[in-house]
Amino acid sequence: MININNYNIHLKYGKCTYCENQIVFHRRHSGEFLCPQCFEKNIEKIISKTISKYNMLKFQDRIIVGLSGGKDSITLLYNLKMIQEKSHQPEPLIALSIDEGINDYRHHSLEVAKEFCKKYNIEHKVISFKDVTGKTLDEIITIKKKSEEYRYACNYCALLRRRLLNDKARDLGGNILALGHNLTDVAETFLMNILFKRFRLISNQYLMKDQSAERSKFFIKKITPLMRIPEEEVFMYVNIKKLNYYASHCPYREIDPIMRKKVLEFIQAIKKDSPEIEYNLLNGFLELSELLYTQEEKKSFNSCINCGYPTGNNTLCNYCTFIKELELYC
Ligand code: SF4
Ligand SMILES: [Zn+2]
Ligand SMILES: [Zn+2]
Repeated sequence: MININNYNIHLKYGKCTYCENQIVFHRRHSGEFLCPQCFEKNIEKIISKTISKYNMLKFQDRIIVGLSGGKDSITLLYNLKMIQEKSHQPEPLIALSIDEGINDYRHHSLEVAKEFCKKYNIEHKVISFKDVTGKTLDEIITIKKKSEEYRYACNYCALLRRRLLNDKARDLGGNILALGHNLTDVAETFLMNILFKRFRLISNQYLMKDQSAERSKFFIKKITPLMRIPEEEVFMYVNIKKLNYYASHCPYREIDPIMRKKVLEFIQAIKKDSPEIEYNLLNGFLELSELLYTQEEKKSFNSCINCGYPTGNNTLCNYCTFIKELELYC
């Protein structure tokens, strides 16, 4: 086993399971040995199969791809572009990046995203936190740190990013928002949701759910075609394909002692002895989300008095509450 950029990769000499090549990657959870060429083809096959198994795409879809410039979103965009060209889909892809305003980080990854789109002739849109809220994430964090109920940067960032991606994708006429979440991300999120008893959220994430006409007025359908590929395999794929991506991680993930990071470390530790653990978590998520979704009583929802989006028991949704709080500091 070798460790490259914090990814544990099992490389060795030996015969590929599918051809005569000798230098191989050992996929421990399945027992396969794959040479670079077979590995690359196999990853592309997994992505295509995931899309068809979960009915993620239809021929006429207008797909907006969330693009950060990191390995996952670059892999996703590259593959969706290939699939689209092969199947001659009529609507071109649009890549959508969010500029949170994170000093010495996002600017670099957006440069990579921009270059990638130029190379592959993909329309690229960028929307920033500053455009929408008047503040960068760095400025928001400086303000929020003064208050006693400061939570971690990711809490604020994720709340804003989710809404901006959803709204901008709809503005662009999209009916699908493709996101680069890989298997490791899905496993980590599911475990987090279990630990915090977020069953409503798990039910909401059910992949095959019937989005009611009422809800689809607000929310675009999201798909995650990389959800069956572990993070280290996405890393190997972009490197074998020589796709240019931005390799650094967001500084806030290192600064804040966020629970998510601890959960990830826990999964990685278990994975050393049980290489199938992420797949177990993915399957657990698929089964539990279906069970919760089908048993849940479908109630009508309250609407936010400001934006009209579905909300819980409050009159304002979380997004509008957050924006209102920020305005107090202007
Ligand atoms: S790690 Fe946190 S702060 Fe950084 S981009 Fe992701 S959600 Fe935002
Ligand atoms: Zn091979
Ligand atoms: Zn609202």
